[in-house]
Amino acid sequence: MGAGGEVGHGPDAVRARYLAERDKRLVPGRADIRDLATDEHFAGCRDDPFTPRQERAPVDDDVDVVVVGGGIAGLVAAARLREKGVERIRIVDQAGGVGGTWYWNRYPGVMCDVESYIYLPMLEELGYVPRDRYASGGEILAHLEAIAERYDLVADALFHTGVVRAEWDEDLARWRVSTDRGDELRAQWYVLAVGILNLLKLPAVAGMEDFAGHSFHTARWDYGYTGGGPDEPMTELRDRVVGLVGTGASGIQVLKPLADAAREVIVFQRTPSAVGVRGNRPTPPELVDQLRPGWQQERMDNFQAVMLGRDVEEDLVDDGWTHHYAPVHHPPRTESMSIQDYVRAGEELDLRVMKEHRRRVEELVEDPATAEVLKPWYRYLCKRPCFHDDYLDAFNRANVTLVDCPAGFDRIGEKGPVVDGREYEVDLLVYGTGFEPELTPVFRRAGHVVVGRGGVTLAEKWGDGAASLFGIMTRDFPNLFIMPAPGQQAVVTVNYTQLAVLGAEFVAGTVDLLRRRGVEVFDVGAEAEADWTRRIVDSFVDGSAVMSACTPSRINNEGHPELMNPRNGNFGRGLGDWFAYRDLLRGWLADGTCEGLELGARAATT
Ligand SMILES: Cc1cc2nc3c(=O)[nH]c(=O)nc-3n(C[C@H](O)[C@H](O)[C@H](O)COP(=O)(O)OP(=O)(O)OC[C@H]3O[C@@H](n4cnc5c(N)ncnc54)[C@H](O)[C@@H]3O)c2cc1C
Repeated sequence: MGAGGEVGHGPDAVRARYLAERDKRLVPGRADIRDLATDEHFAGCRDDPFTPRQERAPVDDDVDVVVVGGGIAGLVAAARLREKGVERIRIVDQAGGVGGTWYWNRYPGVMCDVESYIYLPMLEELGYVPRDRYASGGEILAHLEAIAERYDLVADALFHTGVVRAEWDEDLARWRVSTDRGDELRAQWYVLAVGILNLLKLPAVAGMEDFAGHSFHTARWDYGYTGGGPDEPMTELRDRVVGLVGTGASGIQVLKPLADAAREVIVFQRTPSAVGVRGNRPTPPELVDQLRPGWQQERMDNFQAVMLGRDVEEDLVDDGWTHHYAPVHHPPRTESMSIQDYVRAGEELDLRVMKEHRRRVEELVEDPATAEVLKPWYRYLCKRPCFHDDYLDAFNRANVTLVDCPAGFDRIGEKGPVVDGREYEVDLLVYGTGFEPELTPVFRRAGHVVVGRGGVTLAEKWGDGAASLFGIMTRDFPNLFIMPAPGQQAVVTVNYTQLAVLGAEFVAGTVDLLRRRGVEVFDVGAEAEADWTRRIVDSFVDGSAVMSACTPSRINNEGHPELMNPRNGNFGRGLGDWFAYRDLLRGWLADGTCEGLELGARAATT
């Protein structure tokens, strides 16, 4: 039957189905989440279940750099600063150790979804090659710990410590950084590496507080309750019924281990993910033998070129991203093609890719009714795609049930979620409900007030949209670097590590340049900031016509793509022009004149 069930479904019928499925999910209040900073009942769900908190005296210290966040971005920035001879570096993190995302996300089955040989940073520097094509969270965390060790970043780090305020002190020419443990740090340079998916999200569902069973978010897995560990069987679940809420990237990874361990798993699905082939496998020895110096950068660049639709001799990564995501976002274009033809070609590719995904569901899921519900009906570019080898098969197991609830729960009762009037009784609710989107402004993701010159906060300055130079520095916030990220006038890369590595190179290169020139303080010139912001706004592509037809997701602003602010766009069109951006940053460093910055040689008075 080919694409099974789709015989006779021409593009118009599919488009109509997409809209009908979207409408089922466009429910008022659907995107409401709890504000965990103030939520009385659930604030504790962010506590660290992995490392006991050590009592310590407050620290009062003068340092060269404070880096907020010990994830990939913070670690690589700190490592590159070390390479430039910067000595006094303090990483501050709410976590009990380094790793960021990979410290917090220890749920069973967690792994990267971009190939590990390009996702794990600094592989060549550490002489390491991941064991698998897609590494487990445990392996990624161990690698990040090894980076911290190699660059001596742990001894001075402050863990289980939240920055609550940072203020530029004009007289000292230093940042004054205060924490929730009473620390007072003064730093010449301040680096925000606070994460892109660091704010875990809990939906605001009526009755959640009344649930009498146990619950937690996937980013705070409670092995004390489930038993076992990331790679060990969860023995305490054998007599328990688990409700899994959410079928995005975390939900699909966690299902199989849960199904292996629990008496029963009930999966509550609002929108099915498009789940492509993962094709994970151990690293073949011949791949390791072939590696030559510069291989990781070359592989990252190759992947990025494919993602941008450029011609490459060989697709080195050769996976679902390069087969599906790249052509759908950058369809092949011939010179004679009109823009309308190009757009149409993109849609045709998209239709074909989604049909393949639905066919995959049919091939793998035995029960036709369950398969129907698992089929994704929206354009491929509407949601970040998922890839997995065991997720769909898990629905063939007798102990796994799928509950379709496109409009969400009626409420959560004492015994469990209520859908269409029926209460599903569970012992444990696992919220695989993800994170606030990376487009959440950095002043919110940072979780603290950043005060620049004249008492202006970053939230006030960026309240109506970002204003920056390169998406990294902003006027009136001297000596501040914000690691480049989506939504702040930089670029977006599918492989986030590539952007973090470039950001680190830029931060360390700039500090080195300024030091060599005897510059104590820099600020961004008003004209340079206005120019950069204008470039961003001028290249903004309003995709709301296409994106409004999408099923609501974080990519289309939960059904409101029209609210996207052009000032929070990227350098270049669409997701941005990575190679031009990198050339520009590297050219700026090589030129050495610090164009666009106002430089001060004022010596600090400390
Ligand atoms: C399960 C999962 C899988 C992922 N897989 C991929 C993948 O395959 N490919 C990809 O490109 N991306 C992936 N991502 C996205 C991932 O977040 C990034 O790749 C990357 O790890 C982010 O690194 P970071 O250093 O910017 O931020 P994070 O790793 O989030 O680190 C930021 C740190 O800052 C700390 N922090 C924030 N505010 C404060 C404060 N006020 N005081 C003290 N500390 C603070 C946080 O505690 C956190 O530890 C994944 C995300 C998740 C959740």
